Amino acid sequence: MSAQKTQKTIGKVFVISGPSGSGKTTLLAELICDKRLKSKLHKSISLTTRPKRPQERQGKDYFFVSQQRFLSMLKAKKILESTRYLGYYYGTPKRLVDRWLKLGLNIGFCLDLRGASALKKIYPKQAVTIFVQPPSIRTLQKRIENRNACADLSETRKRLSLARKELRAAASFDYIVLNTDFKKAARKLKNIISGEIAKSATIN
Ligand code: 5GP
Repeated sequence: MSAQKTQKTIGKVFVISGPSGSGKTTLLAELICDKRLKSKLHKSISLTTRPKRPQERQGKDYFFVSQQRFLSMLKAKKILESTRYLGYYYGTPKRLVDRWLKLGLNIGFCLDLRGASALKKIYPKQAVTIFVQPPSIRTLQKRIENRNACADLSETRKRLSLARKELRAAASFDYIVLNTDFKKAARKLKNIISGEIAKSATIN
């Protein structure tokens, strides 16, 4: 009996990371809406215990949950990876990611550095890590200040101090995208993701 070769499509895990204010969330949102990528890339929506910002929507930007709910999901192993960022919990819901990957779908994640290295360990062959780099600390500071205009000053300071540390990790990523000009950065990110998807389609 001849062994029949079965072709299994394996989805890619695109982890977009970088300091707060680097623009990574906006960049991923842009790609998810891109007419050529939107059928090929699905966005993972994280759980968080941080309060919702005025412009954010439940189930679209995050699943905003209580700390009690988050911790019970963590205990029940319903969270793939998690982090604590400035006192709040963030985590990737496991079930949907498992289901999408089994279907061979590609998933985009916006995570902190800890999340990026966790997913690289869990999916060593599928994970592609991309670091979004702001042009300068000054620009980053302005972006964080503008976005956190309603939040207290100490949170802005904490985010900026953490961002300085996070910037040092860029070299450990598969790709670095400099976000000076949003359109150019979006194009570069789109090329990276399209190229990786095309590459995995050829391998499969
Ligand atoms: P923010 O409060 O600015 O929305 O998010 C704070 C940080 O947590 C950002 O770096 C963001 O990418 C990261 N983050 C959001 N969701 C997750 C998650 O599920 N896991 C991890 N590891 N980081 C996350």
